[in-house]
Amino acid sequence: MNIASLGEFGLIGRIADRVGVRDGVRCGIGDDAAALEPAPGCLQLVTTDMLLEGVHFDLSYTPPELLGRKSLAVNLSDMAAMGGNPRWLLLSLGLPSSTTLEFLDPFISGLLEMADQFGVALVGGDTCASRSGLVISITLLGEQHPEKIVYRRGASPGDLICVTGTPGDSALGLTQLRAGIREGHAVARHRDPLPRCHEGVMLAEAGIPSAMIDISDGLLADLGHILKHSGVGARIDVDRIPASEYFREHAGTVSDDPLRLALSGGEDYELLFTVPHRRWPDVVRIFSEIQTQVTAIGEITSAGGLQTIRSGGEPYLAGFQGFRHF
Ligand code: ADP
Ligand code: MG
Repeated sequence: MNIASLGEFGLIGRIADRVGVRDGVRCGIGDDAAALEPAPGCLQLVTTDMLLEGVHFDLSYTPPELLGRKSLAVNLSDMAAMGGNPRWLLLSLGLPSSTTLEFLDPFISGLLEMADQFGVALVGGDTCASRSGLVISITLLGEQHPEKIVYRRGASPGDLICVTGTPGDSALGLTQLRAGIREGHAVARHRDPLPRCHEGVMLAEAGIPSAMIDISDGLLADLGHILKHSGVGARIDVDRIPASEYFREHAGTVSDDPLRLALSGGEDYELLFTVPHRRWPDVVRIFSEIQTQVTAIGEITSAGGLQTIRSGGEPYLAGFQGFRHF
């Protein structure tokens, strides 16, 4: 069935019917604006991300449920990178008139499933017809006490540079998807990334990171943002970058330089953060409690830009960059 038969308000009603009662929502979908109750003493954190068909996703290999999950995951990842607790989301859709309910219903299911998983409520949005492909724009609101929020700007010389998970899996998965492979660990990581919300909030609430960002455009590119905002340099030992078992087995079949996937591949949605040396034991304790992999891969330096070395100390020449839109 086609969405045209429902009409704009039928469509909004269909979405609204699936949203339950949530904490802090005085008024959700249905009025001119949502009325929300923020936690006392917190700053409001707001982030938005747009996903365009043909630029960010390809419907030929992206099932609708997973697209719904990922659309929210990318926003949750930004919230995590500030140490914020996610609370509310707005969903704006540009829908081609050919959109079917067979697509829309599972898309909304995936999105609401991820929202429930992280305690986020859908409180509004906008719905329009699109003349050129599907457009998904999500705005996520969250909150955190002002002194706990982690910015990109706080890294100091001597701080350790840490990363969660195993960067590179998503880029490997995308390469495989483009080659017609539809399963395996890397494809799953690319299509259904799990945002590091708990990790980000736990780090922030323990006051550990001096700076933090999520890896959306590639490890080196995103580290570059921390360096720029903090006015520092960094030395990364590329041999310490953790790789998943699947990556070690398969990356060589799609790339003659697998490290390149790990350093410049985007969409891992892992956290990259800096910590003073003396806080490293706290990092290890927190991450072993929640059983998430964390690895120190280098150190912040006072100057010198971003140097990449091998474990023997010799330079590794990274002649590539992260994802660029323009
Ligand atoms: P307005 O014309 O005042 O902007 P709309 O007709 O766009 O109102 O929206 C009516 C209500 O439905 C609002 O509460 C809005 O937030 C909500 N809404 C519209 N589109 C969506 C959507 N895709 N998902 C969730 N809520 C939506
Ligand atoms: Mg509107």
